[in-house]
Amino acid sequence: SASRKTSHIRQKLASLLRSSSETPKPGSKTPEEVVKKYLQKVKSPPEEDCTICMEPLGGPSGYKGPGVGPVSKAESVGRLAQCGHQYHFQCLVAMYNNGNKDGSLQCPTCKTIYGVKTGNQPAGKMEYHVIPHSLPGHPDCKSIRIIYNIPPGIQGPEHPNPGKPFTARGFPRHCYLPDSEKGRKVLRLLLVAWDRRLIFSVGTSSTTGESDTVIWNEVHHKTEFGSNLTGHGFPDPGHLDNVLEELRAQGITEEDALVEK
Ligand SMILES: [Zn+2]
Ligand SMILES: [Zn+2]
Repeated sequence: SASRKTSHIRQKLASLLRSSSETPKPGSKTPEEVVKKYLQKVKSPPEEDCTICMEPLGGPSGYKGPGVGPVSKAESVGRLAQCGHQYHFQCLVAMYNNGNKDGSLQCPTCKTIYGVKTGNQPAGKMEYHVIPHSLPGHPDCKSIRIIYNIPPGIQGPEHPNPGKPFTARGFPRHCYLPDSEKGRKVLRLLLVAWDRRLIFSVGTSSTTGESDTVIWNEVHHKTEFGSNLTGHGFPDPGHLDNVLEELRAQGITEEDALVEK
């Protein structure tokens, strides 16, 4: 009958629509739901531009890409709950979709992190042990040697060129910390950073220019032990505090180490 035919067509259309859009995993939130979780409602937007799209907050989002549905006027601008910066809702969803969609959001203005930020570090191993020698500038303690090992592989959907191989140069990479109270604190936070895939990334090496290779990701490491010929050695009095600051910028603080370990 005619009604059976139309219901058949409707089903076919529905399945086409389903397969053409990314189906979220059961229990996982849609990008819109993730962004909403960190936002407060804004009744009257200020007379400022959205710093993502550079269009006035009082008007529509300037974002014209795919994957963002229409939103009601009342929900078109939101305030990030902790830092208070305001953006078009659509702009934040578009920004989230361009990242690795891990359920976290970072304010593009002040870098405040909402949720738990994770990275795209490839699979590998992190090991460490204490060696009975002192680092220059830390004569009163032994040293911690961290050994990172990441083999080459194929890039996943979270990498710049999914399906293409990536190289991994200079592994195992050895890094050093003083075995002091602060050095051990840095180690604990580096272990959290490793679990969150934030120590390395895949991209273009700033030293060799090689693309699709494993690179360091914003957290500095000391790779030279007894001297400082490369600038990546000791002594460097500010090093541990700098690393703590870089880890904080990735959303990792001492509380994280206490929770996870
Ligand atoms: Zn905008
Ligand atoms: Zn902010």
